[in-house]
Amino acid sequence: MKSKAPPDLSRMNRAVFEALDHDELVELTCRLHTMATDLAERLAMNSTNSSRPPSSDLPFGTGGGGVVGGAGGAPGGASTAAPVPSRKPPQPSGRKPGKQPGAKGKWRTEPLKAERTERLWPRACDGCGMPLEMWDKEVRTGAAFPVLELERTPGGIRIACVEHRYQVVLCTCGHETEAHPAVGVLSFLDGRKRQLHLTERCLVAPSLAAFIAALAIRHHQSRRKIREFLVTWFGVPLSVGSIDRCIREVGVACEPVVEDLLDEVRAAGIIHADETPWYQGILNRWLWVVLTATTAVFRIGSRRHEEIRDLLGDAIVGWLVTDGYGAYRDYEKRQRCVAHLIRKGLALAGGLSPDGVRFGEWLVRELRGLIHAVAEDEGHSTLNPIQARLKRACKLHRDHETEKIRALAREVLNDWAAIVAFVRNPYLPATNNEAERALRIAVIARRLSFGTRNEEGSAAYAASLSVVETCRRRHIDPWSYIAETLARARAGFMHTPIPAAA
Ligand SMILES: [Zn+2]
Repeated sequence: MKSKAPPDLSRMNRAVFEALDHDELVELTCRLHTMATDLAERLAMNSTNSSRPPSSDLPFGTGGGGVVGGAGGAPGGASTAAPVPSRKPPQPSGRKPGKQPGAKGKWRTEPLKAERTERLWPRACDGCGMPLEMWDKEVRTGAAFPVLELERTPGGIRIACVEHRYQVVLCTCGHETEAHPAVGVLSFLDGRKRQLHLTERCLVAPSLAAFIAALAIRHHQSRRKIREFLVTWFGVPLSVGSIDRCIREVGVACEPVVEDLLDEVRAAGIIHADETPWYQGILNRWLWVVLTATTAVFRIGSRRHEEIRDLLGDAIVGWLVTDGYGAYRDYEKRQRCVAHLIRKGLALAGGLSPDGVRFGEWLVRELRGLIHAVAEDEGHSTLNPIQARLKRACKLHRDHETEKIRALAREVLNDWAAIVAFVRNPYLPATNNEAERALRIAVIARRLSFGTRNEEGSAAYAASLSVVETCRRRHIDPWSYIAETLARARAGFMHTPIPAAA
């Protein structure tokens, strides 16, 4: 049955059908039906019913089901294609993630052996308030615990186990004062048994925590893979829980830094913005990015207009470069990404409708011509005719019978000022590639890890990404900065801002 080649759709139109006799018509209809069934089935394929990987599933499970049903509306042709099943939210088992109550715990069978000790002293006397000096007498050691530190050596890196000893010092006034590990920020999450409290009393030093965060965030390694890596290459056994804690601590420490960054973004001359779907547990969220040449801020939230207004504020002085999403339209000084429109034009040009091919090619030609002419600084004598032709192409097709053609033509006309803003302001980038590139890392993370689990995880991930990407843009080592920021957060000190571009 399927031996015949699929019918050539580009040659078909009403006149051809009307010229066919009954038998030919039946034959053609059968072939078209076979083809439509094939396509519908292919469209309905996803990871649950084919060998495709889950990463190829659409983010929110909105497949082509609607397209299949809505094409012809022929009453007889009962659509056999099942609607694409949406990505199943994990069935709640009623159990909380992690170790279950009553389960046998895991713990270290051998205590960590410290290779050296580091003594820490109190700064001032608890009794008289005078600063303690080097010559004041150390009475004994108070608290002592091992800390794993990542050290840079001439040959690379190593992990050292250092015993931190908090000393008790006798003041000249006769009072004994004990040094204590400092306690810093508390990250509170409703309904959680043990809140995340940053403190210096921690097995993993900030340097190693930053290294773990780098493996997770920048290099997309799972908590389990990181555990395996640390044991294999450093002989350091850490639990998945400790590793997860490090990554969240880094996020919590980075959060206050992001507030500074946001101010810098708002004050910039050109701001790129973009968004991509994100999962937070079973919630469908959006990951936003706003960025400039030297600063990037990520945020996970809803897709509502308020989200971008909350990020950028109402009155930004600079230009906003975005895709066509409606949330950005409240901003007057806006450049619409031309690459998006070119891609839409190319899709039409590669389609089956002759009118679509013509319009698509026309649109792409004029848009590319415009970008080229602006880049070459060719002046009004070239630029104006191109814009006029572009507008004419859209006006000619804005009432076209085919929806796709009509929609693209209207899209260009409705957003005209934002599409050609770069012609009058040649310093404006014509595309939003900058923001799309910055989102790549999150898109890959989403495919590998299926997003974050809760509000805290989302905020932490977005904050870490913001700091890492900003440092990269300023040619600063993000991980040294993060290690220092985490050390300050654990000690309860304010963060230091990220230095300007090196
Ligand atoms: Zn004293």
